[in-house]
Amino acid sequence: MDSRLSPDQAAAREMAIDFARKEVAPHWRRREAEGGFQRDLIEKMGAAGMFGCLFPEEFGGNGMGFVAQVLVMEEMMRASIETGMPFNNQGVNVPMAIYRHGTPAQKRRYVPELVAGRTIGCFGLTEPGGGSDAAAMRTRAVRRGDRYVINGSKMWITLGSVADLILLFAKTDPDAGHAGVSAFLVDTKDLKGFSAKPIEADIGTRCIPTAELSFQDVEIPVDSLLGGEGQGFKLAMSTLHYGRVCVPARGLGIAQACLDMAVQYANDRVAFGKKIGEFQAVQHTIADMLAQTEAARWLIYRAADRAERGESFGREASIAKYFAGEAVMNITEKCLEIHGGFGFAREFPVFRYFTCARVLRTGEGSANIQKNLLGLDELGWKKIDRHAA
Ligand SMILES: Cc1cc2nc3c(=O)[nH]c(=O)nc-3n(C[C@H](O)[C@H](O)[C@H](O)COP(=O)(O)OP(=O)(O)OC[C@H]3O[C@@H](n4cnc5c(N)ncnc54)[C@H](O)[C@@H]3O)c2cc1C
Repeated sequence: MDSRLSPDQAAAREMAIDFARKEVAPHWRRREAEGGFQRDLIEKMGAAGMFGCLFPEEFGGNGMGFVAQVLVMEEMMRASIETGMPFNNQGVNVPMAIYRHGTPAQKRRYVPELVAGRTIGCFGLTEPGGGSDAAAMRTRAVRRGDRYVINGSKMWITLGSVADLILLFAKTDPDAGHAGVSAFLVDTKDLKGFSAKPIEADIGTRCIPTAELSFQDVEIPVDSLLGGEGQGFKLAMSTLHYGRVCVPARGLGIAQACLDMAVQYANDRVAFGKKIGEFQAVQHTIADMLAQTEAARWLIYRAADRAERGESFGREASIAKYFAGEAVMNITEKCLEIHGGFGFAREFPVFRYFTCARVLRTGEGSANIQKNLLGLDELGWKKIDRHAA
């Protein structure tokens, strides 16, 4: 792998840095103080091309590739959490699942709108009864003539309360285990029997809602099915390989932001008549943060690079997700340490990043789940990439 950025990758990064300078830095404090989802911000990000690196122009993208998408996600999370969070919804998991598994009509209808930020998407897999054991889901979809009837609920769905489109996973054959799971594209407008309730939770930002979704005899047309009946689990797992690059890419943005803030603070703060950066203990802390950030960075870029080349990348994505998850927790903790009491002040985003790092470690397959997958893969018992199609 070439460690230098290609012209496209450098351009994508510059585009994100420019957007962060003009649209994020002057506004994030006000947005966090006000709270609430900002649809116009997503549309602005879409219009700037933030969500389009994985898709060709025909589907509203810019085709810059997965490494470019990682660079954009990293810079947007480095700028602020509310601009770092919506990528799985608009640029990776939801549009990617449709792009890879949809009919030509589904692709034409949904992918360009998601990438443009005009349609808000969400990924409906986790249920109140559990997320790690996705095959145990209880939500049912029963075929009745030219409709499916959906009953059940989903939990912790990012942007679920504001989404126009749900990529929903439900069982069409409850006796068939994971082979009984199917995927559906559910339009939420005027959807009878559907409700979404925001969950009160501390995730590091007040601008990205997370919701519990409820379906009571919700009817959707049969052409809402994505992929074939029974293909949903495989579709979810192979899509999560993309998500497992997207999640640590955003963690990397947190790591870099914390390193930037720690360096700045160590140069400004004075104790015992010296800048605290003059104490070797603080220098070592910054060195640890730097080394862990760079190690995470190259694991993430490697996974994205393999995906971009059309090579299997699920194993590399799990390694990146696991390692970066641990590293970013350490880095945010060290950043808090360097900031002393001020780490807890709202004026600095350090504590919010610390909280968000913890969320990223859990979502899209917790640290334990990544270790389970990697252990089985390395022993040769169950290959992580078996779901890649
Ligand atoms: C802010 C936020 C946003 C989210 N957004 C989405 C979203 O948009 N869409 C979506 O579908 N989901 C979403 N999730 C859900 C997330 O993916 C799940 O929380 C995660 O998969 C873990 O599932 P769980 O919470 O049910 O925990 P559980 O599965 O109940 O796990 C609890 C603990 O047990 C451990 N554990 C479970 N099974 C094993 C095992 N076999 N071996 C070892 N340890 C195990 C886990 O590692 C964890 O520490 C979101 C979660 C949060 C917090």
